[in-house]
Amino acid sequence: MYPADFAYYRASSVQDAGRLLSEHPGAKLLAGGHSLIPLLKLRLAVPPALIDVGRIADLSGISVASDRLRIGALTPHAEVAASSEVATHAAALADAAGQIGDPAVRNRGTVGGNIAHADPASDLPAVLCALDASIGIVGAGGDRTVSAGEFFLGMMTTALGEDEIVTHVEIHSGQEHGSAYAKFPHPASRFAVIGVAAVVTADGDTCRSAAVALGGLLPAPVRASHVEQAIGGQPLNEASITEAAARAGDDLGDEILGDVFASADYRQAMAPVYVARALTAAAARAR
Ligand SMILES: Cc1cc2nc3c(=O)[nH]c(=O)nc-3n(C[C@H](O)[C@H](O)[C@H](O)COP(=O)(O)OP(=O)(O)OC[C@H]3O[C@@H](n4cnc5c(N)ncnc54)[C@H](O)[C@@H]3O)c2cc1C
Repeated sequence: MYPADFAYYRASSVQDAGRLLSEHPGAKLLAGGHSLIPLLKLRLAVPPALIDVGRIADLSGISVASDRLRIGALTPHAEVAASSEVATHAAALADAAGQIGDPAVRNRGTVGGNIAHADPASDLPAVLCALDASIGIVGAGGDRTVSAGEFFLGMMTTALGEDEIVTHVEIHSGQEHGSAYAKFPHPASRFAVIGVAAVVTADGDTCRSAAVALGGLLPAPVRASHVEQAIGGQPLNEASITEAAARAGDDLGDEILGDVFASADYRQAMAPVYVARALTAAAARAR
């Protein structure tokens, strides 16, 4: 199907994109187009105008300054996956970016587009929640920063206002931790049926603290606080990781997603398996 007609504007800067958004109510930003264009073609989105932010150089790139790893919103997944800085400071993010879709999706799809779209089966939301990332936003009301935990509100719903633009994500880089991402990919699309991100700090073989976030299972990513508490202070061995991972069900509530490929019961049963995999891999990197 063809999209409905829309006006097209190319923004030359973040300020220009903000101006265009306020002049064209209902307009959508266009980054890599890998989520938006399918919606336009299915006419699930019929915006009057598209504002192309794809050539705003300021929005792209990866840097480390002070103790913050900063990733511009327009940075494509392939660049995140290949970055030694991301691998050093946020290995779970490199793991996840490298498993998104296929090479075409990874080369065109962007970090900002991924999180603004907030598909429950996306990989990055859970990773950013586990890493306690903050999301930089610019809008008519000024600049603001929102924690990943407060950004993702529900199915394809975020804290982003209609006139706001994601500019970057930031992750604390000074901390000594190991992090990893374990994913059960849909065999056709590669989207996450289940995606678990874990961040572990350790004293030798003992877990000092853990952050675990679950994706793919619920309308929005969720921190697995029961798992985190169960593994904190415990030895990082198979027995205690398996025991802690079994608590994942307590963090899922009753909104577990199900579809023709994987029922809610199946996802619930598999969740501890992926929690254990993510914790085991993060623990190996934390030691
Ligand atoms: C075949 C296929 C497989 C995929 N597999 C996976 C997968 O395994 N895992 C996964 O996580 N994702 C997957 N994706 C999604 C992919 O990662 C998309 O690229 C991403 O979700 C959207 O990024 P984009 O740059 O293409 O955004 P676009 O499609 O351009 O935009 C998406 C939405 O975000 C908004 N937006 C874009 N940039 C900004 C910004 N800077 N500020 C505010 N709003 C903005 C747009 O207005 C739009 O509403 C897949 C996509 C396809 C087509």
